[in-house]
Amino acid sequence: MSLFEHPSFDNHEKVLFATDKASGLKAILAVHSTARGPAVGGCRMWTYENSNAALTDVLRLSQGMSYKNVMADLPIGGGKTVIMRPEGDFDREALFEALGNALEALNGNYMTAEDVGVSTADIMMARRVTNHVVGLEGGTGDPSPVTAKGVYLGLLEGAARGLGKDDLNGVRIAVQGATGHVGAYLCEHLAQAGADLLVSDINEPALQELAKKYDAKIIHKDEIYGVEADIFAPCALGAIINPNTIDQLKVKVVAGAANNQLSTPDMGVELQKRGIVYVPDYVLNAGGIINVMGDIDPKFNAQWVEGKLVTLKATVAEILDKAASEARPSNLIADELARGRIEEARQAKLAAAA
Ligand code: NAD
Repeated sequence: MSLFEHPSFDNHEKVLFATDKASGLKAILAVHSTARGPAVGGCRMWTYENSNAALTDVLRLSQGMSYKNVMADLPIGGGKTVIMRPEGDFDREALFEALGNALEALNGNYMTAEDVGVSTADIMMARRVTNHVVGLEGGTGDPSPVTAKGVYLGLLEGAARGLGKDDLNGVRIAVQGATGHVGAYLCEHLAQAGADLLVSDINEPALQELAKKYDAKIIHKDEIYGVEADIFAPCALGAIINPNTIDQLKVKVVAGAANNQLSTPDMGVELQKRGIVYVPDYVLNAGGIINVMGDIDPKFNAQWVEGKLVTLKATVAEILDKAASEARPSNLIADELARGRIEEARQAKLAAAA
């Protein structure tokens, strides 16, 4: 598959294919936009079928980071790295040091962090050869509580519009991935707000414990989509709103932490047709990246993070109101706003350089 013609190329500023024979590194570092500052986005290690699959993944994820970061009004751009997991045993230290060298080649235009298949310990190995990494041990720590708080605040906006309710007292909320890092913190917020929880997870023992703690009803993982509830909060997998699940939904609102909840943008159109309020995932789940900013500069402290979460809630409200007044899908509204803001920043940067 060619790069410039790739359907997800979307004018990426830089795409670096980095290989290192000795360690077995095969990585793609994608920098979607630096219009608002250095690009930031995690590094994922995955067993990809081939390099086309890795390229498609990194381009989509990188663009998604740009959209997420601009909608959270952060002074950073968006990028992402994928590593094609070497087959069999491999030397992790050598691999991540080689990744560090690749990051160096981008001169600070892009900073990475842990993501699926990569730990903070791995990122610390890359840190031996580069400063262009964030989310380090001894830094801002687990972003999940902040992500969960942002999701909770944005979900309130979804509830106000989809249910006409300003509180969650007695509201039935189905949480998928309830015992996960974000899911568990989210359940705590929702339970404290008086919601009735319906929970699913594949981690049975943790699910039993969580259900007991919040007097929640356990739902089989395959039945969560069709459950009688008011709100669906996906906090596990991507692409869970798809042609197989959409007709099962009985909820009035979809608002959760999971990335890439819609299998395709058309699913946003389908949700809108069914009168379901969808809170765009990358707007709602930006708490984690907001929290990581403290690793870039200490001025992004806890008080600043709290302020940003208030802005996140207001942004959700803005998108949902625009979607309602224009009778258009919220995901498309969010994408348009994100693209427009990135372009504005690009023009301002060009003007400043002229
Ligand atoms: P996690 O791995 O800790 O939690 C995921 C949970 O989902 C686990 O408890 C897992 O057992 C469960 N799960 C897996 N398959 C399931 C299934 N079929 N049905 C029900 N449950 C299932 O991950 P996390 O860090 O909590 O992230 C959750 C989602 O939120 C992911 O999509 C992630 O990309 C997104 N996200 C997380 C953060 C963050 O700060 N952690 C930030 C932004 C977005």
